[in-house]
Amino acid sequence: MKSDPYLQRLNVHLASAQPSATYRMMDRVAARRAEGAKVISLSAGEPDFDTPAHIRAAAIDAIGAGHTRYTQVAGMRALREAVARKFQLENGLACTWQDTIVCSGGKQVIYNALAATLNVGDEVIVPAPYWVSYPEMVQLCGGRAVIATCDNNSGFKLTPEKLSQAISARTRWLILNSPSNPTGAVYSRDELRALADVLLKHPHVLVLSDDIYEHLIFDGAEFCTIAQVEPRLAERTVTMNGVSKAYAMTGWRIGFCTAPRWLLDAMEKLQGQQTSGSCSISQHAALAALTGPQDFIASSRRVFQARRDMMVEALNATPGLRCDTPAGAFYAFASCEGLIGKRSQGGALLRTDEDVALALLDEADVAVVHGSAFGLGPYIRIAYALDDRALQQACNAISRFASACN
Ligand code: GLU
Repeated sequence: MKSDPYLQRLNVHLASAQPSATYRMMDRVAARRAEGAKVISLSAGEPDFDTPAHIRAAAIDAIGAGHTRYTQVAGMRALREAVARKFQLENGLACTWQDTIVCSGGKQVIYNALAATLNVGDEVIVPAPYWVSYPEMVQLCGGRAVIATCDNNSGFKLTPEKLSQAISARTRWLILNSPSNPTGAVYSRDELRALADVLLKHPHVLVLSDDIYEHLIFDGAEFCTIAQVEPRLAERTVTMNGVSKAYAMTGWRIGFCTAPRWLLDAMEKLQGQQTSGSCSISQHAALAALTGPQDFIASSRRVFQARRDMMVEALNATPGLRCDTPAGAFYAFASCEGLIGKRSQGGALLRTDEDVALALLDEADVAVVHGSAFGLGPYIRIAYALDDRALQQACNAISRFASACN
């Protein structure tokens, strides 16, 4: 039977949004592995470590103790208190548990904040390179992403001049992400100060500070977040964080933020009609993460810094690739300009960075995500969240692939 032509009509905002480029590449990897290929995946941005044992034990204990029912929509009070303490002690933010909300991953914090505030045509300034989901979330919420391209000359960071140019009467939000996915760039206190000075002149602009990579910062650099640098911005800033990256808990889906109360109320209302709050077991695990021993953070930072050094050296020794040393996160964002226009050994013409990423997958069994998906090409993003042996193998395969291009 022929189906009704209106049956498959989608929401207009969803219809014109793009699927997540990171997940698309992860799906491709899964498909290639199902065919029997031994792919080394440097595509997913998640730590390869297991969640620390005491956190896993806390989750098991929570199940045993019967903590298996709904929690409050905004999260268990004990977890919100731990989140508030984290923001006070680590970030110098004046905040109580009522100034926080717990969501199902950092993604839901961002989505809730945007969905709660955007009306059709509202603008959101997204510095590029950006994490793939920011512009699409803006689009899903009916807003318009205003991309401020920040190239290598400014270390991939937004400058006060670029910010001033991007602000209009319709600007609703500025999204900041430091350390950055995909470049690993870290904003210094002075750089945030300069951006804050611009924002103080535009009281209609909200700020979303995605600090999810806070603890992955190298060479002893200092982490700062904008509401700490300029407390007058706190009344219009969402300071977002979570347990995924700091405690290797990506699958547990716990993110949180501190934000002004009017916005938290709106986010809670939305969440109450949507997920009813986060998984109770995950919340107990997150509580153990935030209140238990913190040595995992320093040890994983040390491991990632050593991997970064190895990765950057190998990439810069590869013909056609060039990579500055990232200051944080676990990504290398390498220019592949030197490969553009060449042909791979397998016969693929490399016109774009996406061609490079696809040929690397097909011919070298290494998965990376192309830079254009993050708003700046020709680059490839390499997530170095694998053990040294796998990373070394991947570097060798990338090098063989690039050397054979002509
Ligand atoms: N944040 C990670 C990444 O960029 C996880 C995947 C995603 O949510 O996009 O790879």
